Amino acid sequence: MAEVFDIAVIGGGLTGKAAAVSAARAGFSTIHIAPAAPPDRRTSALMLPSVDFMRKAELIDEPAALGVPLESIRIIDATDRFLRAPETFFKSSEFDHEAFGWNFGNERLGKAFESAAAGLDDLTTLQTTLATAERGEELWTLSLGDGTQVQVRLLVGADGKASSVRKLAGIEVRERRFAQSALVGDLELERPLEGCSTEFHYPDGPFTFVPAGGHKANLVWIDKMSVLEAARRDPETLAAALAEKSMHLFGRVTPVTPTFVFPLSTLSVDVAGKNAAVLVGEAAHAFPPIGAQGLNLGLRDVEDLAACLAAANPGAWGWADSVARAYGRSRASDLTRTGVFVDSLFRSLLSGWLPAQALRTGGLWALKTIPALRRRAIAFGMGR
Ligand SMILES: Cc1cc2nc3c(=O)[nH]c(=O)nc-3n(C[C@H](O)[C@H](O)[C@H](O)COP(=O)(O)OP(=O)(O)OC[C@H]3O[C@@H](n4cnc5c(N)ncnc54)[C@H](O)[C@@H]3O)c2cc1C
Repeated sequence: MAEVFDIAVIGGGLTGKAAAVSAARAGFSTIHIAPAAPPDRRTSALMLPSVDFMRKAELIDEPAALGVPLESIRIIDATDRFLRAPETFFKSSEFDHEAFGWNFGNERLGKAFESAAAGLDDLTTLQTTLATAERGEELWTLSLGDGTQVQVRLLVGADGKASSVRKLAGIEVRERRFAQSALVGDLELERPLEGCSTEFHYPDGPFTFVPAGGHKANLVWIDKMSVLEAARRDPETLAAALAEKSMHLFGRVTPVTPTFVFPLSTLSVDVAGKNAAVLVGEAAHAFPPIGAQGLNLGLRDVEDLAACLAAANPGAWGWADSVARAYGRSRASDLTRTGVFVDSLFRSLLSGWLPAQALRTGGLWALKTIPALRRRAIAFGMGR
């Protein structure tokens, strides 16, 4: 006989770990299917609402013990286009915050989430994959990569861009791949960033240094794959490109870890929950890392899922279907507006079309000079 759980969370990335902890804390017997994976070398700028949620959900304790505060944001138009935008600078104190958020190493954050999971009686974690699943009248029967079977009422897909839960639930997806990829790595700067996340906007994508404490920075460089691969092949070429693309503002720039490349795409779904299944994180949405929105949105998914579970009646027949529908409704507007915002921002940067450049330049002028608009933009960027 297959063991029966209320919920299965599929995927061992950050949203999967957060969802598994939140489901078990809501009092549901939860099985977390989390295959072993190579270390996640990315870093995540998480805004204050995400940090507040992680603390409230007891996923982390003090952010200062894990990350570095992001006190200001500087955007520099590094294109040589006819219409160039002004340099735009946001300081958190202008908006009555000590910081906009915190920059965390994904691996470190994942370990903190694992510690939160360790003490939970209602949570069982299996280091295997979901192979197939079938839905009966009330239960999903899952066949796992280790040859065992379990049955669950609600399926949570945190299984990334190629989600199999999405397919099983019959959720429609739209994905568009970009010619650009993102190169990440840790750097040592001769002159420190002083808590300021600095974005240089180039015609092929943004080039960003995110504060990682003292003279350290995390690089997110978006460019054509061929350019990134050429820079990766030779450490001297890479160091020279880093100094030049950062306009020599930070002196010598030295890579201190190997670099990693991530292909970029946008992905959206017609609905994030149906047929007793819900999607969180990149199973439901993906876009280029511009404006630091991906994991912030993924954590808002988990927060909404926790709210839907708290409102559910686990004694009622079909509660998993009701949770999936309620979750799908509650996520719809946030997923649409965030997706449209990031996509438009990214495309306006890449666009060689003069009217698009004019809109972007005008927008950045307005953001530089109109206080009410600055406040609105920051609130939006922080997911409020
Ligand atoms: C370069 C870069 C920089 C970024 N910076 C930021 C940032 O500053 N701020 C921010 O908010 N976001 C940022 N993001 C986005 C953020 O990293 C992602 O949104 C987030 O990591 C996605 O997590 P996830 O758990 O949803 O997906 P993933 O990390 O992709 O995890 C999915 C997991 O599912 C597992 N899986 C797949 N199939 C199965 C199966 N059949 N059975 C079991 N498990 C399965 C996989 O093994 C994987 O572990 C960045 C992204 C990139 C590429």
